[in-house]
Amino acid sequence: MTDEITIPADLLPADGRFGSGPSKVPTEAMDALSGVGKSVMGTSHRKSAVKNQVGRLRRGLAELFALPEGYEVVLGVGGTTAFWEVAVFGLVEDKAQTASFGEFGSKFAKAIQIAPHLSDPTVVTAEPGSAAYLNAEDGVDVYATPHNETSTGVAVDVTRVAAEGALMLHDATSAAAGLPVDMAASDCYYFAPQKGLASDGGLWIALMSPAAIERAERIAASGRYIPAFLDLKTAIDNSRKDQTYNTPAVATVVLAAEQVDALNAAGGLDAAAKRCAESAGALYSWADSREFASPFVTEERLRSNVVVTIDFEGVDAAEIAKALRANGVLDTEPYRKLGRNQLRIATYPAVDPSDAVKLTRAIDYVVERLS
Ligand SMILES: *Cc1c(COP(=O)(O)O)cnc(C)c1O
Repeated sequence: MTDEITIPADLLPADGRFGSGPSKVPTEAMDALSGVGKSVMGTSHRKSAVKNQVGRLRRGLAELFALPEGYEVVLGVGGTTAFWEVAVFGLVEDKAQTASFGEFGSKFAKAIQIAPHLSDPTVVTAEPGSAAYLNAEDGVDVYATPHNETSTGVAVDVTRVAAEGALMLHDATSAAAGLPVDMAASDCYYFAPQKGLASDGGLWIALMSPAAIERAERIAASGRYIPAFLDLKTAIDNSRKDQTYNTPAVATVVLAAEQVDALNAAGGLDAAAKRCAESAGALYSWADSREFASPFVTEERLRSNVVVTIDFEGVDAAEIAKALRANGVLDTEPYRKLGRNQLRIATYPAVDPSDAVKLTRAIDYVVERLS
């Protein structure tokens, strides 16, 4: 019985949070949050204490991503799902081409499809577990793809489609801070802080190129109907003042700033990406070495280093996840709609690679007792 499996303490990860989002928030960051406590939480977001935190996050991100000249860190309220609508109103001029190879890519495609002011997008699709690729097409003014498809654990390289005047948008909600990226290949690299940034939800962040900012300003001036909450030009103007249009999730800002500062101090994006590769590598090579497990993503170069998906055979993955949960190892269940006999394990930079190794031992222990 699953309920009766007690995993020995020496096989358990020191921190049992392996969720793909919300993800592990480091204890140090939570301590820092309670440290700034009364001077920030519950105070006006138009005054310097909160604005300083927003500024710290914006500067930290500019450093972490080595932003090229003229790129800006823009933020607003509502998470990545809100940003999709922001892009629908403020970045797509008429026609987009989007890549859809999992839940999140398909959701953005849908948001564009149903927008009455836009032409039907071209959607390039691929089966979950593989990737779809953007390609140059006449009349397309926005190309969009996930950098990392969180629902399946597929990561692609961030590259530019050879198409003059078009913008490249990358959904980096789970990729940001864990996968390498050359920002010159993206015009809008957007994410929310509850995944790689080890913070809480409620905000969107977009790293925008001068071309993307120009596009947003041009569309805003064109007279298009844009709901105020989704107005990108307003968000850009507020961000330049280290503010948001409406009240931000302040604790989310502080926790994200803590993680970004910690990553910068520990060697920046290169070091963070290496750490994620180490954790993910431990899980993939373990799965390869076990009869009952195999990486879901068969093409090795597509395997994500931040979200690891592992298929199981001859043993019920849901029972494994349940036994792990009963022992304090949380959120290893697969993406609901994928419907596979699978575990999904996040290996964001906040996860300690030695905990990823421990997790493989804990799973071995459970599988032995279930089969
Ligand atoms: C989690 C996730 C989203 C949704 O983020 P919210 O902040 O919950 O709206 C979108 N895209 C990707 C790739 C994600 O992983």
